[in-house]
Amino acid sequence: MKELNVKICFSVLAIVLCLFMLVFKREEGMLNPVFSLSNKTEAKVNEILKLNEDKELIANETIKNKFVYLAFQQGEEFVSHFVDTNTGEEADFTTYLKSGAEEAFSKKVEELLYLKYPKFIADALSDGSSPKMYQVLKNELIVHYTSEALHSLITEPLYLRVNYNDIQEFLDFPVSLDANYEQENGYQLEKDKKAIAFTFDDGPSGEKTNRLVQILEENKAHATFFMVGNRMEAGASVIRNVLNKGNEIGSHSYAHKNMKRQRVEDIVSDEEKTKEIYKSITGQDLLYTRPPYGNVNKSIKEALDTTFINWNVDTEDWLHRDKNYIVNHILENVKDGDIVLMHDVYDTTIDAVEEVLPKLYAAGYQVVSISELASLKGISLEKHSVYRSLKEAQ
Ligand SMILES: [Zn+2]
Repeated sequence: MKELNVKICFSVLAIVLCLFMLVFKREEGMLNPVFSLSNKTEAKVNEILKLNEDKELIANETIKNKFVYLAFQQGEEFVSHFVDTNTGEEADFTTYLKSGAEEAFSKKVEELLYLKYPKFIADALSDGSSPKMYQVLKNELIVHYTSEALHSLITEPLYLRVNYNDIQEFLDFPVSLDANYEQENGYQLEKDKKAIAFTFDDGPSGEKTNRLVQILEENKAHATFFMVGNRMEAGASVIRNVLNKGNEIGSHSYAHKNMKRQRVEDIVSDEEKTKEIYKSITGQDLLYTRPPYGNVNKSIKEALDTTFINWNVDTEDWLHRDKNYIVNHILENVKDGDIVLMHDVYDTTIDAVEEVLPKLYAAGYQVVSISELASLKGISLEKHSVYRSLKEAQ
C-alpha cells in the first residue's frame, strides 16, 4: 500500500513537472512547435500534414504563440491551414484579427483589390463567393483567390499582396513593417507583358467619350484620343475628364479635311489654331497628330512640327456599326506593339470596347496610350516621322 502511494506521488509529481515545462515553454515564445504544442494541437497539425502529404510543405510555423500556420503548394495552387494553439482546433485566419476589425479588414482588402485588378475581376473576387487562402509572410499577407465565375476566362493565378503597413492596425499579432512598400497598382506598366495602344479619333463626343473614359478606367486601360480642333471648345469638360483619368490627347486637324488636298500653309495655320484652342482649355500642348484618313506625305511631314501617329489595326468601326464585328476583329488581329484605330463617336464602338477589354486582359494584354506603348518598347518618338505600330519605327 505504501509502495503504491509512493508510485502515485511520483506520477503526480511527473505530471506537474510536465505541465510546468509546457507552460514555461509557451512563455518562452514556443519557437519549436514539435516539442511545445499541446497534444491536441499536435494531433491536428499532424492530421493536416497527412491530408496534404501530396503537396509541397512550404511553411510550418507557430506564430506569436497564437496559431500554427501550415502552408502547402501544388503547382499554382496554394493551400493554408491555421490551428489555434489554445483550442487545438482549426481556425480561420480572420480569427487572428482584433475583435470587431473584420469589416474594416475586408474593406481594406477590397480597396486594394480594386486598385490592382480591373473591375470585372475585383467584382468577382469580392462578392463573397470566391474562396480565399491566406499566406502569412514576414512583411506581407498574400490573399490567394479561386473564382468559379472567372475560371473559364482567367488562367493566371489571382492573388493580392497586402503589406502589413496597410493592415497592421487590424491584426491581433505583432508584425514587421516594410519601409519600401508600394501598393500593387493595375496601371503599373509591365515590360514583359504584351501591350497595344487604343486610339480614338473624331471626338470629343460628349457623353459617348465620357462613357468610354469610364470603361477604360474600370479596366485599368489608357488610350490616346485624336480630337478635332473645331469640336474642342464645346467639349472642354470632356477633354479635362479624358486627361484626368490618365489618357492623352493628340490633334486630328482643325476641321477634318484631307491634308493631301490642302495647301501646306493652310495645314500649318489650321494646326496652330487647334494647338491654341487646346492650350487655352488644358494649359498643355497637343502631343501628336493623326492626319484625317491617315493621309500624309513628305511635304506635310516636313511642314508640321509634330509626330504623326497612324495605325496598323483598323477596326473599320465607322463602317461596321456592329459590336461583335469590332470585338472579333480586334481579338483576331492584334499583336504586341500594335496601334488600333477606333472612333469614340459610335455607341457600337464603345460597347465593343466594354466587351473586348476584359478579353484582352485575360489574353495577357496591357491596353495603353501611345506614350506608354513607346515607353514600354523603348522607342523615342521623333517629330516629322509617321508611326503605324510601335514594335519598331517605320
Ligand atoms: Zn477622322
